[in-house]
Amino acid sequence: MLLEVRDLQVEFRTRDGVAHAVNGVSYRVDAGETLAVLGESGSGKSVTAQAVMGILDMPPGRITGGEILFQGQDLLRLKEEERRRIRGAGMAMIFQDALSALNPVISVGDQLGEMFVVHRGMSKKDARAKAVELMERVRIPAAAQRVRDYPHQFSGGMRQRIMIAMALALEPALVIADEPTTALDVTVQAQVMDLLAELQREYRMGLILITHDLGVVADVADRIAVMYAGKIVESAPVHDIYKAPAHPYTRGLLDSIPRLDQKGQELYAIKGLPPNLTDIPPGCSFHPRCPMAQDVCRTGEPPLYEVSEVRGSACHFWRECLHDRDQ
Ligand code: SF4
Ligand code: MG
Repeated sequence: MLLEVRDLQVEFRTRDGVAHAVNGVSYRVDAGETLAVLGESGSGKSVTAQAVMGILDMPPGRITGGEILFQGQDLLRLKEEERRRIRGAGMAMIFQDALSALNPVISVGDQLGEMFVVHRGMSKKDARAKAVELMERVRIPAAAQRVRDYPHQFSGGMRQRIMIAMALALEPALVIADEPTTALDVTVQAQVMDLLAELQREYRMGLILITHDLGVVADVADRIAVMYAGKIVESAPVHDIYKAPAHPYTRGLLDSIPRLDQKGQELYAIKGLPPNLTDIPPGCSFHPRCPMAQDVCRTGEPPLYEVSEVRGSACHFWRECLHDRDQ
């Protein structure tokens, strides 16, 4: 087991009261496995990842419960210094916006090289050679020349490749990619996602892929965890989800992906908005938006029901949801 998050709880103090951003999230990622964490913005997917990375802005954010086990160690019990060591070599993060994640006044070669100087004690010259090698590895054309260029001299897609190179430099066991392709054009998105998937297999790293777009994960993820209002509402192998979702929210996300065979048809959109996290609806938090909601949903909070050995759904009516699919 590479990473196991157990019953994680995170709160934020806001002017409107306490925002319950993460409310008992549990998930696990094995070596060589890709977990896609899916949900709208504000569902808690990024906050959970930031807690794992140990980069949650605190305060106002506060972890109020749970465990984060990385290679068997509870990260929440480690000193900041030990945490930093793991963050350097054990796990790395890829952000959506490479331009703000990279330093604008340092050449990409120096930024990549710095990793080897600081963490591996390499000479500047050897580190530069490693930087070129990494840039070639993520297929940046003319890497030996471009190693001296600054981030703004690269296209969005190339910059995202540089971020991937930075994340993989020390060959971490776990990489967390938070909306890694969201800012890119659709064709470039697919190229960057393919590259990430290829490197993930090659390095046999665990990958957590955070996205709001179910369309980008089908070919890449092994498992999907769907988040809503700070909870996991469905967790399953990717093929099970595409075959038949066991939660109405997952189904809404699936139905809102554009499909080639339905050209011209109006796209389904889940009605309403995600809840205010300072005031999460009682019962099932999805009930105000759910087309299948019954009275019980307004009062009784659904646990994560066991749909199969490898699948869970937090819907009282998961059976109906599964079987509705083909009608
Ligand atoms: Fe919809 Fe009820 Fe299921 Fe919640 S528990 S997703 S409201 S049917
Ligand atoms: Mg986010």
